[in-house]
Amino acid sequence: MSNCPHCKGLGWVRFDVPVGDPDFGKLVPCPDMDAHLEERKEEWYARSGLKPHEHYKLDDLVYIDDMHQEMVGVLTEFLEDPKGWLYLWGGYGTCKSVALQCAVSTFIERGTPAYYAMFADLLDVAKNSFKKPERKTTEDYDEAWSKWTSYEARLHRMRHLPLLAVDEVDTDKLNPTPWMRQFQDQLFEHRYRMAFGDARLVTMFAGNNSPDLLPGWMASRVKDTRFIVYENKGVDIRQQGTLEWFHE
Ligand SMILES: [Zn+2]
Repeated sequence: MSNCPHCKGLGWVRFDVPVGDPDFGKLVPCPDMDAHLEERKEEWYARSGLKPHEHYKLDDLVYIDDMHQEMVGVLTEFLEDPKGWLYLWGGYGTCKSVALQCAVSTFIERGTPAYYAMFADLLDVAKNSFKKPERKTTEDYDEAWSKWTSYEARLHRMRHLPLLAVDEVDTDKLNPTPWMRQFQDQLFEHRYRMAFGDARLVTMFAGNNSPDLLPGWMASRVKDTRFIVYENKGVDIRQQGTLEWFHE
């Protein structure tokens, strides 16, 4: 809303009082703040990694079986006061992805940006953001540079987002290659340290494997007793006939 008549899109306006008034120069929220928030939400959804039909709310998570219900309970409680890491694991088709997508939507609805990513995509971003091009030939340099900066920007965003939800964590891909060590430090170690103190960055993971199968560096952080590890032992809903095709 850069065309907002009140604040020109800044979100803040100054008190309209004469010089000398104690409120002179003070900033207050724009009277159209609600409209600004709505607009921001739209922008955050567009950059959330969610497809439009994946904007799940807690109320959308219907009863499937007791184990599923238990996971919804864990998620609901976690979202009441989100902090630290939450690692969800279990068999295929146990709605772990929906749980992460629901958390991302919940954050955005509360006015906080959040991001849902497949682990493989995250690795792709990380790998490429470490390939800073060297100026050798001017021809491909510009393209390589612009690609690199876009990966850099995405990695930077993932380091600082209030919620990062990582789906399909594949233990096989967490191998200790040099770039993986760099990735570990730049993203996960950073988010681990920023889970505490004032920053309180929240990170969620979902995968098929027990955290015991993660590499030592990751398992040690995931299993920090301040965090939550939850195993969903529910049924595969894809095999239960509980899924339907939705038509708008
Ligand atoms: Zn305004």
